[in-house]
Amino acid sequence: MLILALAIVIVALIYFFIRKKSAALWHSPLLKQLLTQHIDFYNNLNDEDKKVFEQRVQRFLTDVHIEGLGFEIHDIDSIMVASSAVIPIFGFKGWTYRNVTNVLLYPDTFNNEFQFEGTKDRNILGMVGSGYMNGQMILSRSALVKGFSKNSGEENTGIHEFVHLLDKADGATDGIPESFLAHEYIEPWVKMMHQEIRNIEMDHSDINPYATTNQAEFFAVVSEYFFKKPDQFQNNHPELYAMLSKIFGQHPAE
Ligand SMILES: [Zn+2]
Repeated sequence: MLILALAIVIVALIYFFIRKKSAALWHSPLLKQLLTQHIDFYNNLNDEDKKVFEQRVQRFLTDVHIEGLGFEIHDIDSIMVASSAVIPIFGFKGWTYRNVTNVLLYPDTFNNEFQFEGTKDRNILGMVGSGYMNGQMILSRSALVKGFSKNSGEENTGIHEFVHLLDKADGATDGIPESFLAHEYIEPWVKMMHQEIRNIEMDHSDINPYATTNQAEFFAVVSEYFFKKPDQFQNNHPELYAMLSKIFGQHPAE
C-alpha cells in the first residue's frame, strides 16, 4: 500500500515537472524572446500576426514530438523546427500537417544509411520519411540552425523539408502542390519550373543548382529562397515570386 502511494506521488511529481517545463516554454515570455532573437520571418510580422504565429508554433510543439539523436535538444532547436513548419503554412488558416508526428534531429549531416559520423557521402541535410518511415522527418541540427542564421545565403533546410510535406499533402511529392494551387495555374507553373531549371543549367540563375534534381526539389529550393530572401527573390525572379505568393497565400517581400 505504502509502495503504491509512493508510486502515485512519484508519477504526480514527474507529471508536474513535465507540465511545468512545457508551460514554461509555451506561456512565458521565453517563446516570444527566442522568436524575436532568431526568426526573421516572425520579426517582419505585425503584432496581431506575431500572436497568431506564436499560437501556431505552440500548437505544432504540442502535436509533434521532437527529439535529438544522442543529444539533449534545447528550446531553441524546438522553436526552429516549429517555425520551419509554420512559415510555409502561415497563409492557410487552421491548416495543420497531418503527415508528420516525429522530428528527429541528427547532430550533423548524414548519409543514405542514416550515419552521421565519418565523412563518406555524408551530405544529406534533411529528409521526409516514406514507407515504414511515414510520419517521420529527420533534420540535421547544424543545417537547421544555419538556415536561421543571419548571413547564410538563400538556404533553409527546415523550410525545405516542410515544403516537401506540403507538396506531399495531395499524395504525390512532385513539385505540384495541387491542394494549394488553382487548377488553371498548374500548367503555367510546370512550364515556369522547367524554364528556370534550364536557366540554372545554363548558369543564368542565382538559384541553388540542387533545384535541377527534379520538380519536387525545385519547388522546395525556390521556397527556401522565397521565404528567406523575399525581396531579393522578387527582384531577381518576379514571375516565380508571384506564383509562389499564390501557392502559399503570402507576400513576404515588403
Ligand atoms: Zn529536398
